[in-house]
Amino acid sequence: MLREVLKHIEQRNRFVLTSHARPDGDAVGSALACCQILQSMGKQAEVVLHDGVPRIYQPLPFADKVIAGERVNGGYDAAIILECDSIERTRLEGLEDRFLISIDHHVSAKPFAHVNWVDPTAVATAEMIYRLAREAGVAISPEVATCLYTAVLTDTGSFMFQGTNEHTFTLARELVLAGADPAHCARNVYFGHSTAKMRLLGAALSNLHREGALAWIWVTQEQMAHANAKEEDCEGLVNYALSIHDVQVAAFFREMNDGRFRVSLRSKGQLNVADIASRFGGGGHECASGCAVDGPLAMAVARVVEQLRSHPSVQ
Ligand code: 5GP
Repeated sequence: MLREVLKHIEQRNRFVLTSHARPDGDAVGSALACCQILQSMGKQAEVVLHDGVPRIYQPLPFADKVIAGERVNGGYDAAIILECDSIERTRLEGLEDRFLISIDHHVSAKPFAHVNWVDPTAVATAEMIYRLAREAGVAISPEVATCLYTAVLTDTGSFMFQGTNEHTFTLARELVLAGADPAHCARNVYFGHSTAKMRLLGAALSNLHREGALAWIWVTQEQMAHANAKEEDCEGLVNYALSIHDVQVAAFFREMNDGRFRVSLRSKGQLNVADIASRFGGGGHECASGCAVDGPLAMAVARVVEQLRSHPSVQ
């Protein structure tokens, strides 16, 4: 399938790259890296993201070139959609009638595009982009290495999630050899938070609930406004609930402005949270997944917790 993707790239000249709304490190890093790789192949390429680049990823090379917008305009020959299972999750308009190439490493990936390269054995979509560059004979520049390394760093939960293995470290090593600076990448991601995010973390943790091996936290619109926080400030808050020693599964609920709740699920490995998220129309990985559920809060929590509770590992 990699060769097939490359064949379609070689046949075309102008590309738009995108990923899911509320992009994470793999979404931003893979899109920026893939864009540079295409340009090295002599192609025209631009990245468009519905929500732009979150603060902690703004130091990445060429992040300032990303177009934030609601619509893809322009005469592109193809759209490459990274790490995303549908056009809808990009929240972008103007993709429907284009030639679509999907590159994704999620187990829950769906074949929605004209060409679908899905590899759940890849630790991050960035690993697939690395392979694409190698197959295309494009040298990995320090800038590309920095984007890919940051994507791998964040999508493996700092090399902590299940699935991180010797190949992950080989990939990381190759990216470091190509010019990624691990300390610099980590500093931007883990020490680049806003004050608002820390205030929001306080609010979320004050809502901590425990039940056996389950823990959940939430934030309301009111709490977000009080902390002066943005959607992106919610990324990673769920990990604080998971970090409790006897918690196996954690959930984070964020109230959206339509009254629904965005849910982040994290597992230490015994419970497959991609399976739980898919019951609510979401998806993701065995240890990290997400979905959206209807409010009010008590109802949203009850529905999700009921599904989690039914699993033997959390009883
Ligand atoms: P997060 O909780 O950080 O938003 O997402 C965790 C993982 O689940 C990510 O890999 C993300 O792409 C995936 N994910 C989150 N929400 C959804 C969703 O609504 N649908 C699908 N298919 N995947 C999701």
